[in-house]
Formats: sequence, C-alpha cells, structure tokens
Amino acid sequence: MAKNSVIKGQTAQVIVVGGGPAGLTAAIALAGAGIETALIAKPPARPDTRTTALLASSVTALDMLGVWARCREHAAPLRVMRIVDDTGRLVRAPEVKFDCSEIGLDAFGQNIENRHLVAALEARASELPSLRRIEEEAEAATTGDDAARVSLKSGNSISATLIIGADGRRSLCRQSAGIEMDERDYPQSALALSFSHTRAHNNISTEFHTASGPFTLVPLPGNRSSLVWVLDPATAEKISALDDMALSMEIERRSHSILGKIAVEGSRGLFPLHIATAQTFGQNRIALVGEAAHVMPPIGAQGLNLGLRDAATIGELVAEGGGVPEMLARYDDLRRKDIKPRTLAIDLLNRSLLSDFLPVQGARGLGLYLLDRIGPLRRAVMREGVAPTASQPRLMRGEAL
Ligand SMILES: Cc1cc2nc3c(=O)[nH]c(=O)nc-3n(C[C@H](O)[C@H](O)[C@H](O)COP(=O)(O)OP(=O)(O)OC[C@H]3O[C@@H](n4cnc5c(N)ncnc54)[C@H](O)[C@@H]3O)c2cc1C
Repeated sequence: MAKNSVIKGQTAQVIVVGGGPAGLTAAIALAGAGIETALIAKPPARPDTRTTALLASSVTALDMLGVWARCREHAAPLRVMRIVDDTGRLVRAPEVKFDCSEIGLDAFGQNIENRHLVAALEARASELPSLRRIEEEAEAATTGDDAARVSLKSGNSISATLIIGADGRRSLCRQSAGIEMDERDYPQSALALSFSHTRAHNNISTEFHTASGPFTLVPLPGNRSSLVWVLDPATAEKISALDDMALSMEIERRSHSILGKIAVEGSRGLFPLHIATAQTFGQNRIALVGEAAHVMPPIGAQGLNLGLRDAATIGELVAEGGGVPEMLARYDDLRRKDIKPRTLAIDLLNRSLLSDFLPVQGARGLGLYLLDRIGPLRRAVMREGVAPTASQPRLMRGEAL
C-alpha cells in the first residue's frame, strides 16, 4: 500500500474516507475485488479502549476478506449470553440465558479488542495492490454529475466515481452529501476498559441491566474480559477517575464477584451516548458506512456489526457495477431494512431501562419473561441476532464478492 503518494488531480475508482474498522473493511472488500481504491485515513486521535463482540456472520465476512486469521489468537468465542435484571426495582425481569448450542452453533460470535481488529485490518490492507492509503485529513468532498472529488489538507485532491464516507459520527462526507441525521443524546456515558480476573468466564457474557444502563462483561482470551459500563455522565467521570485498585474493587462489587478478583488493565475510554441515523444512506455519489451512517448505544453489540454489513453491501454493489445513482438507491434500500428496525429496538430497550414509569418497566419485564419461557421465540431471536434475515450480504454468507 503506497503511503502519501497522492498528487494533484489523481484518480481512483472509489475513495474511502476514514480508516476506522468500517472504512478499512470497505476498502479491503473493494480492493480485494480488484477495484482501484484510495483510502484517506488520518491517524486516530487516541487509542481505542473498546472491544467488539463480532457476530458469527461478521467473523465469516472477515475470514472471506483474509483478515480473520490475524484476529483469531486475540479473540474469545461467545457461547452464552445472560441478561440479568439488576435494577432493584419493583418490577424485575427474570434472568434470560441465550445458549448458542440451542441453535446448533459453536459460538454466537467472537469478542476482540478494537486495537487488534484494526491492526489485522491494516495488515491485510497493506497486502492489496489495488489499495492506496493516504494518511491525511480530508478537508472537503464535492460531487458532480460525472465524478466526485476529495480535497486534502495538504492542498492535493483525488477524484473517483464514488466516495464512501466512513469518517465516523461527525462525518464530513455526510455533510457534503447534504444528508441530515435523526438523533438524540442520552443522559448516559459508557466507560470501556479491559481487565483480568481470577475466576474463569467460561465464554459467558453477562449483561446486568441497571437503572442507569447496562453493565456488560464480555469474555476475552484467558482470564480476561472487557467491560462496558453505562452510567450517568457525572458518575461515569467520577468512576473513571478512580485509581486502578479502587476501580477494580468497584467493578468486582458491581459484578457481584462472578469473575472473582479483578485487576483493570491499560487505559479507560469514556463515550457519551447518542443515537443517530442518517435520513438516507447514500446520495450525490456518496455512500455512508459505519458511524457516519448510524450511531447507537452499546447494547446488544450492534454498532460495528451493522458497520461491517454496510461495508460488505457497498462492496458487493460496486463489484456488480452499474450506474452510481441506481447503486446508491439500492444501497439505501438494503441498509434501511437492516438499520432502522435495530435502531428502534435498541432505543426502546435503552429508554425502558432509564424509565421510572411502571408500565414501561412492566413491558420490558414481560418481554424478557416471554424470551425466558418460550423456547421457539428465544431461538428465533438468537438466529436473527447471528444472521439477520433483512440483510446478509454475500461476504456474510461466506461467498466472495
Ligand atoms: C463502549 C462501546 C462499546 C461498543 N461495543 C461494540 C460491540 O461489542 N459490537 C459492535 O458491533 N459495536 C460496538 N460498538 C460500536 C463500535 O465501536 C463502532 O460502531 C465502531 O467503532 C465505529 O467504527 P467506524 O469505523 O464507523 O468509525 P470510527 O472508528 O469513528 O472511524 C472513523 C475514522 O474516520 C477518521 N476520520 C474522520 N474524519 C476524517 C477526515 N476528515 N479525513 C480522514 N479521516 C477522517 C477518524 O480519524 C477515524 O479513524 C461499541 C461502541 C461503544 C461506544
């Protein structure tokens, strides 16, 4: 992958803006299919402390793209997912357990630290002759009837027939395409970190539902796990400022010691929570993928799994060929069916946790009660989670583009 080699007026078939996991995956899918791709990726501002629970279909896609072999040793299989009502409220839901063996799978998916996932994607990207990486910031994206152009901070520019905006939640590409977001802030922040522990996790992920949001423990290889702890912003600030020892003890207390003694590792990340969906996922020669298209709170591990399906879908449509306006209309239609219902479900679930309104708590409790008691319903939810019927692009089905 040639770095910083752009000169004025240079062209590619497709430009991807943003070198996060969604942009890298889109660029690898395109370049792997022989499409001349320019990836404009400014280096990240700070290290990513998050992990990603990748669904089995996302793992299949990464395997198809030649990425998964580098991830395998850093990932832990997720075999059981438990939801535990820890709200302490009058109406409490029963504990619900989803076991992958109930639907004949070896694992629902794999949990991996983002730093390892991104390193594996970058290593794969560097092997593809059709992929050129430009380590710069995009300053403007302009589109016309026949072509689109990205201007870089250095004063250079590059043209293509299509721009893929993978430039995160404050996407320049989205603004340039004239696409608005439907959005709402939540009174919550997520603290994300990894830790080691003395008791085995047995590949069980546990999501404690608390009145401030979920407190989720997700297995990593060995006796290590990741934590996503959703709190009101002031408490989140206070807790993330604790020293390692005090924070470890607090996590052990909140997790009811199910993983034994805890020792937090490395840095901590705080993420203000927000839900947002683009009103359209592609127009004016710009397609949006990942958080440029949709942002959601970390409940039910949806965000990047959706982002990878965006990347696989646009890769598939570009590889099929045809006119850009028709391609973007098809992309919008396919992604809408997947993104909209998931965003709605996550929003409802998160708001039901925050609500003190008894009927809302009752409805959430009833939903979880039904999942606990009705096997076919539980299995249908698990199958939908692993392989969403609304959108299974070819890569997710184990087929090449
Ligand atoms: C606490 C937490 C836990 C999560 N857990 C999960 C999980 O278990 N499973 C899951 O599926 N999802 C999860 N998510 C969601 C997931 O982390 C995000 O969906 C994902 O990281 C977004 O990736 P992205 O590539 O779309 O965006 P980003 O990672 O934000 O990448 C955007 C990139 O674009 C670059 N960029 C921006 N502007 C420009 C520009 N002008 N020029 C050049 N480059 C630019 C940025 O530098 C950045 O590198 C979680 C989120 C949070 C907050």
